[in-house]
Amino acid sequence: MNTENFQLSERLVNTAYVRQGSQGRRAHELRLRILLEQGKCPEDGWDESTIELFLHELAIMDSNNFLGNCGVGEREGRVASGLVARRHFRLIHGIGRSGDISAVQPKAAGSSLLNKLTNSIVLDIIKLTGVKTASSCFVVPMATGMSLTLCFLTLRHKRPKAKYIIWPRIDQKSCFKSMITAGFEPVVIENVLQGDELRTNLEEIEAKIQHLGADNILCVHSTTSCFAPRVPDRLEELAEICMKHDIPHIVNNAYGVQSSKCMHLIQQGARRGRIDAFVQSLDKNFMVPVGGAIIAGFSDSFIQEISKMYPGRASASPSLDVLITLLTLGTKGYQQLLKERKEMFYYLASELKRLAEAYNERLLETPHNPISLAMSLKELDKRSGTAVTQLGSMLFTRQVSGARVVPRGSVQTVNGYTFKGFMAHTNNYPCAYLNAASAIGMTKEDVDVFLKRLDKCLKAQKKGLNNGEALSEMKKEVISDIEESSMSEADTKNEI
Ligand SMILES: *Cc1c(COP(=O)(O)O)cnc(C)c1O
Repeated sequence: MNTENFQLSERLVNTAYVRQGSQGRRAHELRLRILLEQGKCPEDGWDESTIELFLHELAIMDSNNFLGNCGVGEREGRVASGLVARRHFRLIHGIGRSGDISAVQPKAAGSSLLNKLTNSIVLDIIKLTGVKTASSCFVVPMATGMSLTLCFLTLRHKRPKAKYIIWPRIDQKSCFKSMITAGFEPVVIENVLQGDELRTNLEEIEAKIQHLGADNILCVHSTTSCFAPRVPDRLEELAEICMKHDIPHIVNNAYGVQSSKCMHLIQQGARRGRIDAFVQSLDKNFMVPVGGAIIAGFSDSFIQEISKMYPGRASASPSLDVLITLLTLGTKGYQQLLKERKEMFYYLASELKRLAEAYNERLLETPHNPISLAMSLKELDKRSGTAVTQLGSMLFTRQVSGARVVPRGSVQTVNGYTFKGFMAHTNNYPCAYLNAASAIGMTKEDVDVFLKRLDKCLKAQKKGLNNGEALSEMKKEVISDIEESSMSEADTKNEI
């Protein structure tokens, strides 16, 4: 309602009440004003009514929602299902123009504004979480792997001779495929074992650069967030090497925004050397559905070049989801989640250590990995060749997801490249192990239930139950667990 309509309302409802109503509305609008003025994530989260009001205001700025619109083009933002329209808050046009995902779309002022605001708020969060000198970023409706591909394809035009990408090994298929899909040849740099940790082999990288010649190398592709016992790459040194040899540097920061250590590494790398772009997943860092990533960097012109590489228009859904999420949480809410994540990490570490020791195993010492932990499975591995993978399937049957069991000596071929010791980030890690991670949103209950179930699985293994027996015993337990929890739910309901 505008001023005029409020005045007209006074003919029907007591003036004092209408004034109060209009003040109520002004409080919502004040938040919008601050957001538009500053382009930053609000400190305090908004309530849903403000967010809905805001999204509605954006939607009616788009041509598909104009009352008198008559569309005669091939893409007019028509949707057949009301459910689909509501799922997108009637923002149907997506983002970008045919030549640039960050460009303003004339048919959709509201969607364009949404896109610009989202990118601006997300940049604010990236600075706030530790990469203070990041200057530019955009949300792209593709997951991390494809977003990395887009970065490599952008570099291709700048380095026409290059065909290699220097890649410190990380056993995650999408990292590898991001380079293959872009048409480059990964040069796999094996990690070095230091204590329990797997770290970047800087000497080998220097040697490869000398050997291949800088001009033939598209970039160095490094990784921060990864499964222990691998730890984040030595970004500072890598960034210095890249600067020295004038080679671009792309960082895969998949779930690193949630860790101040990963963000600090990127900041230090950029300060001391060269980082051209860093890429992070929306779902892994911001608790939204899978489908988007943020490409960020320190040079506006390079980030813009990447956004211009994207052919055509794009889905606005990932932008919309992260915008709603950040407005809901505010910086305070997001920082609170990060703080809780860190606390959960230390809790998980200490409890996992205790459990490991009870089974004559140990928590691997990986102090440089801020998110993922690993517990040795030496005893199991000694018992039989299949006990380790069996533990994996036992955990899976017990509805534990995300725990990752890594046997020794598994071999895997990806796009014609054969990796020895696949999953372990190295050819011959000294022991089999199990991974668990403390990611954003994890609760104490998740940790406790995980440890309880892991304990039961290890106990069953120790008793020497074969897989079938153990599984059937466990299925019984899972069923009784589920019954127990639904019963206690019913109890609580009765109490209410
Ligand atoms: C999740 C992840 C990816 C790939 O992510 P997608 O979003 O599935 O493309 C790449 N690298 C690492 C280290 C990851 O954790």
